[in-house]
Amino acid sequence: MRLGPEQRDESVSQPGESRPTRRATVAALEDLLYRPLSVLDEHGFVRVIDYMGDDAAIVQAARVSYGHGTKRVSEDQALINYLMRHRHTSPFEMCEIKLHVKLPIFVARQWIRHRTANVNEYSARYSILDNEFYVPSPEHLATQATTNRQGRGEVLDAREADRVLNALRAEAGLRRAEAERAYRGYLGLLNEDATGAPIDPARPGVARELARMNLSLNFYTQWYWKTDLHNLMHFLSLRADPHAQHEIRAYAEVILGVVQRWVPMTHKAFLEYRLNAATISATGLAVIRRLLAGETVAQDNSGLPPREWRELMAQLGRGV
Ligand SMILES: Cc1cc2nc3c(=O)[nH]c(=O)nc-3n(C[C@H](O)[C@H](O)[C@H](O)COP(=O)(O)OP(=O)(O)OC[C@H]3O[C@@H](n4cnc5c(N)ncnc54)[C@H](O)[C@@H]3O)c2cc1C
Repeated sequence: MRLGPEQRDESVSQPGESRPTRRATVAALEDLLYRPLSVLDEHGFVRVIDYMGDDAAIVQAARVSYGHGTKRVSEDQALINYLMRHRHTSPFEMCEIKLHVKLPIFVARQWIRHRTANVNEYSARYSILDNEFYVPSPEHLATQATTNRQGRGEVLDAREADRVLNALRAEAGLRRAEAERAYRGYLGLLNEDATGAPIDPARPGVARELARMNLSLNFYTQWYWKTDLHNLMHFLSLRADPHAQHEIRAYAEVILGVVQRWVPMTHKAFLEYRLNAATISATGLAVIRRLLAGETVAQDNSGLPPREWRELMAQLGRGV
């Protein structure tokens, strides 16, 4: 993965500038600061640029509302669990994090829908985009799902998988060739070669803001992204979920690892009460009560539409 010269300087010079602070710091996250954490391929990364707060800051904010009744360290996890369970979210807003993310443009389009963050994106009006693009590895080039219009399909049987894999390898090669061609076209419009020298000194290049328009969505962009822990968990609950597209999920999983280092108690509560928990509808709850009472319940007498019935049975680990 590539960092620009300013970013390399920043990651080298910052530790040299360290000085004592009275602010709360988290040793496990300090170790990670400025280090790119690889995502997807050799280009994608997430790196922590800055952060504010820790588990203790959440507990302290909560005690402003609950008083000093629960003061023992052993009770901090219980208090954070309580906040998470009861969606008392504002104490989590006391913590903030700033990330530098390098991501394919099609992932950025999904990510930017999360409006409760501050974003500063690399400008392709001022700077020339790198010749870096994402091509999925064959195992992630799945067929279209038939049950979920937004998803990828099931695993195929061995013979079919082999045939599809060969086709996908060829497809990946084609995508790579197309992206290379698009980048050559981009440089051609700019009238610059890979070193920045004019290809034809006799003619002017097209403006960067126009030259970029033929690049495809798999080219990489980068941004600084700052958000608070409450909104970060909302992002993660949607994007680290199995329904999220593999590529954005890969980023969410790396960020989950960062959250674990930064606020381990909150991370634990988040997995328990949000990410790995389930929301059950009122009718679904009634079905569970009937099942617990020993009743035989089928979809047609459950009150649930077929899809919700299938989802509930999957949540309960029962085949339908
Ligand atoms: C699996 C999946 C599939 C998706 N498919 C599509 C799709 O097909 N098409 C599509 O367009 N989008 C799609 N999305 C994007 C989705 O609809 C949301 O825009 C995105 O997930 C951001 O969520 P959010 O608005 O809750 O987050 P944020 O923008 O971070 O907002 C967080 C919360 O703040 C509140 N909020 C923020 N801004 C406003 C506002 N202006 N008005 C009212 N409340 C606000 C809301 O309560 C919101 O939940 C998909 C998302 C996922 C995870």
